[in-house]
Amino acid sequence: MAEKKLLKNGVVIIHDTDDTARGVRADLLIDGDKITQIKPDIGSSAGVTVIDCTDKVIAPGFIDTHRHMYNIALRGRHGDDLLPDYLVKAKVAISATVASGLRSIYGYCFNGRVDSWSPFSLNPSFIAPFALDALKRLASSAPFGNGRITLGVAFDGWFLPKDMIVSLFQNIKTLGIRHVTTHNSSSPPGRPTSIETMHSCGVLTPDSTVILAHANNLAPNDIKLVKENGAYLSSTPSVELQMGMGTPICFDPARDVQANSSLGVDCHNVVLTSIVSEMRCALAHSRSMYNDKFRAAGKMAAQINHTVQEAYALGTIQGARAVGLENEIGSLAVGKKADIIVFDALAPSMICGAQHDPITAIVMHSTPGDIVMTFVDGILRKDAGKLLPMQITSEDAEVVGVKDTMISWSDVTRNLLKTQESVQARLKKLDLEAAKKDACTALGMDTSIITSKL
Ligand SMILES: [Zn+2]
Repeated sequence: MAEKKLLKNGVVIIHDTDDTARGVRADLLIDGDKITQIKPDIGSSAGVTVIDCTDKVIAPGFIDTHRHMYNIALRGRHGDDLLPDYLVKAKVAISATVASGLRSIYGYCFNGRVDSWSPFSLNPSFIAPFALDALKRLASSAPFGNGRITLGVAFDGWFLPKDMIVSLFQNIKTLGIRHVTTHNSSSPPGRPTSIETMHSCGVLTPDSTVILAHANNLAPNDIKLVKENGAYLSSTPSVELQMGMGTPICFDPARDVQANSSLGVDCHNVVLTSIVSEMRCALAHSRSMYNDKFRAAGKMAAQINHTVQEAYALGTIQGARAVGLENEIGSLAVGKKADIIVFDALAPSMICGAQHDPITAIVMHSTPGDIVMTFVDGILRKDAGKLLPMQITSEDAEVVGVKDTMISWSDVTRNLLKTQESVQARLKKLDLEAAKKDACTALGMDTSIITSKL
């Protein structure tokens, strides 16, 4: 397909400066990896591929700020799991993101490793001796996928000695890595919180790009540090609500950190992989909590709690700010990357809503199946609702681990099912109940508080 693509006659969703989104009837021109024009009646010329977007809604790619990309082979196992059940099953699969065609920041993970599956035991040394060298090797060849995939770090070991953390992150900084993500959890009374430790170790600074996932237990000083240092929080409402991880922070009235919030899917082996689904879940939960307060007092709320627009901003422009890429992604604007999704406005779940208010139609009515086209870096990755084969460049072949230059979704499915088979075989040999306790203890959870009755 030609380098220039003209998306003709669609409804383009743009953000105003106050983050309000609205649909405008316009054409959108992609030149290479960038959006170069958004306006009505853009003329076509030789070398421009015209894509008819009549009855389509054109939106920016959503931003997911917290996803465990490796765990697809574990789908179907966690629908009724709480966090301790989940922890023991999640450490068994890994795969690269490079061949996906997505834009992503790959968080190289320094966390604990399984030494033995049966009996289950974790390695007592939290940071593997080879981990930093492996990261250095990766950093020497990053970014990957023509710049789509950059390196970050995922780290949860804030309980480790301070000098060890400081030295590790000094090394990470020299590698040019700026993104750090962590699962936020509360600390025992009298001990610094993980956010205080990150700050005192020089990891959380105004220059850093830090994303705290599941930060539902922030103490007042944590909130102050988050705001002062411009850190962002990743709320993953579906998983957090299922697994007893507290009230999703993004709309928590007690914490007031919505301006520093974004959305993530977290574990796509537990819930649907959809940022729209997280927008809806965050809204429904916060509205339920709010309405219940009025009901408990024998009253009715006079206005709705939080809006569709606020939820849409969390999954788009605020997500881009969370990863420090708000000048490149998170909204449709001239000069930004052409990361675009196209909804079918006539699809059964979208029709009438999309014509009246496309933002509400997306947030409240859409399903992933209504997305008919997806562009990443201006490259068409999904067309007519189907994923297209992915071209692997010779530079990426080493990272991806395949010699073929083209990977189709059917190739991926065959490998995924093979992976799933081997994972299931290993899980069958595991004493899950015994391993659950060990996994929780290794991650600092107090298993004595787990109870069936209050
Ligand atoms: Zn997570």
